[in-house]
Amino acid sequence: MALLGGIADAKWNPPANHHSVGDGTTIPHEEESSTESPEPLAQLQHISREHMHELWRMRDQGVSELSADELRLLEAMRAHPEFYPLWERLPYLPKGEFLVGEMNPFVHVVMHAIVENQYGASDPPEVVAALDSLVKAGFTRHRAVHAIGNVFTIELFDVLKSQSPFNPLRYQGRLKLMGQGANKPGSLEAIARTTGRNDRCPCGSGRKFKRCCIDWLPPDLDPNHWHFLLPGGEIYILPEFAKTAPDDQPTRLLNNLSAVANALAAAGDFEGVFATYRSMEEIAKTQEIEGFWYNVLQDAVFFGLNHPEFAARVLEFSQILLDRSDEEEILFRVSVLLDHADLLTYAGHVGEGKALYGKAQDLAAAYSDNQELQKIVHGRREDWSTHVQHWAKRQ
Ligand SMILES: [Zn+2]
Ligand SMILES: [Zn+2]
Repeated sequence: MALLGGIADAKWNPPANHHSVGDGTTIPHEEESSTESPEPLAQLQHISREHMHELWRMRDQGVSELSADELRLLEAMRAHPEFYPLWERLPYLPKGEFLVGEMNPFVHVVMHAIVENQYGASDPPEVVAALDSLVKAGFTRHRAVHAIGNVFTIELFDVLKSQSPFNPLRYQGRLKLMGQGANKPGSLEAIARTTGRNDRCPCGSGRKFKRCCIDWLPPDLDPNHWHFLLPGGEIYILPEFAKTAPDDQPTRLLNNLSAVANALAAAGDFEGVFATYRSMEEIAKTQEIEGFWYNVLQDAVFFGLNHPEFAARVLEFSQILLDRSDEEEILFRVSVLLDHADLLTYAGHVGEGKALYGKAQDLAAAYSDNQELQKIVHGRREDWSTHVQHWAKRQ
């Protein structure tokens, strides 16, 4: 069974401590600080992260020096643009489990590379048959890899849980069934219907059906159910739409990047969060998705308000909002103005912040019958006065 020889073999042996880069020099890996032996999966993640960062760094130079395994991993990393900010931030992420929504991005791309490796080597041949059948049935190649990778990951977790060797029988059997189901819709439902709970499982594992594939069969062979949408982001795209949205849908990418930003924030990598907002802004702006551009800018401003050390750097975001808010309704205009004033103050420009508060008060005065507006301006002005000493001292 083909796995990833140089990156992670079937026993998950750590690779050599030095790794060749394109120009012939070697980079020492940072020493593992922990002395206790990590869980196999954690070990796999850790090894992969170091490799991934090196691969990402050298992606534009000397790829001819890379092994076939490494090229496949790099290809998998490229296939997920929402994770680019993560590949950049790899050395700064805390060790241990890192999840975006419920997905572990490192395990995900390793899974990709393993499936592609197996496909390339036709080992096991069932991978080729299943993947080709899925693509013929309407899966994008990426979604087909996800579907097969899911079957592989189930086996992998079993191996790690029981510390027993990989048993290829069920994996190959399930792939065969998948291919069959893709070629002939309804055929798997028929198999599930006609197999008794105590019969031998149709996957060929030798186990009883009830102890093997009863819940897995029939597998879900709707291509749209293997779409990739990370939960836990801001709402840039509705989940219902995401199911059928093409893989290169920009709002889908924004949604996924937003989930990545949240995961980086949870991990305490605020520099990474800022970098992610930057790439989100670039996408929203160049794609001219006006509404989403507003959302991205607002998220970035909100981040700056919560992390005053970034205030100076998100000022450009709030300036764009401010410049474009003339047409908007008054509550929005005033809150954009006040956010900008707070960011200026955080960044040490107390006088400019104060002037903007004055401007907001003048603006609000023209809408004296709008109680909500008066309350907001008044309340925030109070807060600003109370905190301004403290903010100024931070500088
Ligand atoms: Zn993927
Ligand atoms: Zn089975």
